[in-house]
Amino acid sequence: MRVKATEENIKLAGKIIKEGGLVAFPTETVYGLGANALNPYAVAKIFEVKKRPTFDPLIVHISKIEWLEKLTTQVDEKALKLIEKFWPGPLTLVLPKSNIVPDIVTAGLPTVAIRMPSHNVALALIENAETPISAPSANPFGYISPTTADHVERMLGDKIDLILDGGKCPIGIESTVLSLIDEEPKILRPGGLPVEEIEKIIGKVKIQPSSEKILSPGQLKKHYSPKTPVRIFKSLDELSEINETENVGILLFKKNELKIKAKHIEVLSENGDLIEAAANLFSALHRLDDSGVSVIYAQAVTETGLGLAIMDRLRKASAPAEN
Ligand code: AMP
Ligand code: MG
Repeated sequence: MRVKATEENIKLAGKIIKEGGLVAFPTETVYGLGANALNPYAVAKIFEVKKRPTFDPLIVHISKIEWLEKLTTQVDEKALKLIEKFWPGPLTLVLPKSNIVPDIVTAGLPTVAIRMPSHNVALALIENAETPISAPSANPFGYISPTTADHVERMLGDKIDLILDGGKCPIGIESTVLSLIDEEPKILRPGGLPVEEIEKIIGKVKIQPSSEKILSPGQLKKHYSPKTPVRIFKSLDELSEINETENVGILLFKKNELKIKAKHIEVLSENGDLIEAAANLFSALHRLDDSGVSVIYAQAVTETGLGLAIMDRLRKASAPAEN
């Protein structure tokens, strides 16, 4: 349903987000497809709706600076100067993440991208939701970013709980993404805030050279993959060939009786629900990786809906290390 962004409707939208639903909302850059950033199941639904064949890290939108402390473990002086000057506005900062940020928000990375939008509707929505909102652009995979509610409605109208119509986005291109993880700040994506403006405040910043440009954020080399070797299996019968003297970890899509003993088992979704499985995937991989097993057997899922992105991630995890 598409509604005008009145005070009353923003309240309703906030409630929908708080309760785990999806709301498309205007920001000064583009329309975002928002979910409660602290609810992994709600965030998984974003990927379901966008039909992205990969998981990629999402920007977390905040309305108050207090959230920055809760979502990160370190905010250095450069970050503070930039925030002082450019927030609210089209600048996204990548910082070390705290434990409250679910792994699906960051695609398993130890860092989180945060921004405070300057659009009044976006700010009011976050306030009403009483939680940070993670949101990519509100378009299906492969389509251009929406800058009007009409774009969103045409592309995703039947798939989301509410579209807040706040008119045309004033900037119309995405935010500039700046990583403050390494000693030298680095532009990961040029966007609505010019690099020159950033350099006036913190000095020279590196720009990711085009040779390193990623075709899709999901192809980022630093994307999380377990250190433990991962092997994908299709049917449970294949597990009977496992040598039990191996220190085995198993990642099951749904609950199953196993005939073999494993040191650590993770079940992504008791009933085999793809959205729940996606919400749990990264945390489960982390736990398996930390459990001290020497190999992880991961159950294949059907490649429909979120199954496509889940399999993309499992294949990446099972491919030999690139470097
Ligand atoms: P979009 O979802 O279209 O707004 O794009 C979000 C951008 O932020 C993408 O280019 C992501 O790769 C980038 N991004 C989000 N989180 C991180 C992170 N933790 N580290 C690096 N880049 C990130
Ligand atoms: Mg996008």
